[in-house]
This record gives sequence, C-alpha cells and structure tokens, in this order.
Amino acid sequence: MTRLYNFCAGPAALPLPVLEQARDEITDWHGKGLSIMEMSHRSKEFVAVAAQAEQDLRDLLKIPANYKVLFMQGGAHSQFSMVPMNLLRGGKKADYIVTGQWSKKAVGEAKRYADVHIAASTEGNNFTSVPAQHELDLSADAAYVHYCPNETIGGVKFDYIPDVGDKVLVADYSSSILSEPIDVSKFGLIYAGAQKNIGPAGICVVIVREDLLGDTLPGTPTMFDYKVCADNDSMYNTPPTYSWYLAGLVFQWLKAQGGVEGIAVVNHRKAAKLYDYIDNSGFYANPVVKNNRSIMNVPFTLQDAALDKTFLAESEAAGLLNLAGHRSVGGMRASIYNAVSEEAVDALIAFMADFAKRHG
Ligand SMILES: *Cc1c(COP(=O)(O)O)cnc(C)c1O
Repeated sequence: MTRLYNFCAGPAALPLPVLEQARDEITDWHGKGLSIMEMSHRSKEFVAVAAQAEQDLRDLLKIPANYKVLFMQGGAHSQFSMVPMNLLRGGKKADYIVTGQWSKKAVGEAKRYADVHIAASTEGNNFTSVPAQHELDLSADAAYVHYCPNETIGGVKFDYIPDVGDKVLVADYSSSILSEPIDVSKFGLIYAGAQKNIGPAGICVVIVREDLLGDTLPGTPTMFDYKVCADNDSMYNTPPTYSWYLAGLVFQWLKAQGGVEGIAVVNHRKAAKLYDYIDNSGFYANPVVKNNRSIMNVPFTLQDAALDKTFLAESEAAGLLNLAGHRSVGGMRASIYNAVSEEAVDALIAFMADFAKRHG
C-alpha cells in the first residue's frame, strides 16, 4: 500500500488509523451484518454513534452546556445564509470583518438578507494581515459580528479573538477548528465545514448558544432553522450518516493524540518549521505578517513564477500531492491540517530545499 503525502486544502487528508478502521468496518459494522451506511439513522446503533461523536466533540472543545452542537449539511456556504437568517433576530444590521476570500464571500451572501457594515477590511494590503482590535469599526446596532479566524486561501490567522462587547460573535472556523484550543464561551456561534479538520465532506458542524435560537427571518426554510435542527438532534431529515460516523472516528483519534491541546503543540511545531525554512531559503517567500500566519494553510511563492509548473510536477512525482495555490492567488499552498503528519512536513521541506538547490 502506498499512502502519499497530501497537502490538499479540502477535502483534506484523513488520519490513516481512521481510514483503516472504516475499512475494517465497512461491510459489517460491529458484527451487525451490515454497514453503518445501510442502517436507519433512527436505529439505536446509529443514534449512539451520532451521540458519541457529539460528546467527543464537546469534550475536545470543552463546549459549555448552554451551547447546542448541530451536524448540518450544505457546507460552510449554506452557513453564509443561515447565519443572517437565524441571527438577525428582528435586527437589520450585521458587522463583517473581511480578511480574505472566505469572509468576503460570507459578506456577499449576507447582503441578501442584512444591511452589512464592513467593520474592517484588509483587502488594501492584499489580505496579508488582520486588523487590530482598535481598528474594528463596530456598529452600535449590529445583530452580530462575523469573522473568519483562519483564512484558508491567504493563510491568514487572527492572533486574538475580537472583543465585540455584548454583541454576538460569529466565526467561520472551517479550516482551523480543532487545531488548537478555542474558548467557545466567547462566541455566539461557530461553524465549520467538515472536510478540513473534522472528517470527510458532507457535514458542517455548528456550535450555537441556546438563547440565540428560535427567531428566524420570515421565509427561512425549515432546513435552515437552527432550532428545528437542534430540537431534532440534527435528524429532522436523513443526515449524512457515513460522514457523521467518520467524523466521530476522527474525534476519537484526536482524543488519542492528547486532544486539541496535544495536537496544537504538533501543529505549532510543524508550521514553525515550514515558515522558518521559507523565510531563510532565499528562494521561497510568504507575504503574511508574522503574527498572522496560519498554522494550517501555508501559501508560498517561488523566486520565479515560471518555475511553478516544474515545482508542481516534480513535487507530485516525489509523492507530495496538491501543493498548487488557490486558483485566485496562484503560487503554492501547503495545507498542514491535524491529519498531515510532521513527517509529511519534513518531507516537504526536504523536497523544497532540494528543488531550490537545483533551480536557484
Ligand atoms: C473551505 C471553506 C469554506 C467553504 O466550505 P464549503 O463546505 O465548500 O461550503 C468556507 N470558509 C472557509 C474558511 C473554508 O476554509
């Protein structure tokens, strides 16, 4: 069996022990004579799998009891609509902090429902930093403040949690949830598409403070109403059962790695190695302000963009997959999520050094 090093931004690498367990259980789950995929979502077996996944996520992130955990569908993109539909709660205005392509896209969708105020934008510096707390122009009458703690495309990370006073703070944590501890109590709502650090595509986890539920915009589809989802344990309709099961296996794997605290140490070490190498290489560069560099997504450029194609062909041949930057920014990007081992990062750095020596 050959497992190559996968630096894909999403759907991303999954832990090998998770895939192996899924393989072993695929035709006959726990001696029941059928696959977990073929069971009713209302069966006691699947309900137990689903509940265990929720409990493990609660343990990993120390989610307070007054928060609901929802396993939804439609990806983070649907959250761009669900957030205003559920959280305007009679208000009209919402504040958005724009630090990259994803927070910008969230604004585009929110404008269909809300009077969007841009509290800060770093588009002027090409999304290479985050605004400081004192630069946030927060509205007195905003129903909530939305931001993206880790911009997947630009590789930009907030090094602080915005202080929004008594306003509801909403975060798109799609690409950095479970990478390091989060103080959930600072947020009204957190959402994250699964396909980066949680599991396979098909699930979007929403963590929402209970008191925010139940006051949706008129016309909100039933499936977009967080309260309906919460009241039905995320099974108002048929949930993506296999993705949910796999997410549960990832949560158990993560617990075995020392939880979020344990993996955070490894993540910081992996990222520091890669940035140190890039900064000292004289061949590669990363444009992001040091304190705002993502520990999950590391974009970099080569000395000469004409070498990009060669770099991608040679890296792929060397078993290092999916290093092309996002189509909107070009260059390279190494996504080094939880399931990307330190060994993979070491192999990448060794390849980069060899490439630079040959082409520099
Ligand atoms: C990947 C990603 C998205 C989009 O997720 P989908 O599941 O494709 O809708 C949104 N926001 C961030 C920060 C992401 O990394």
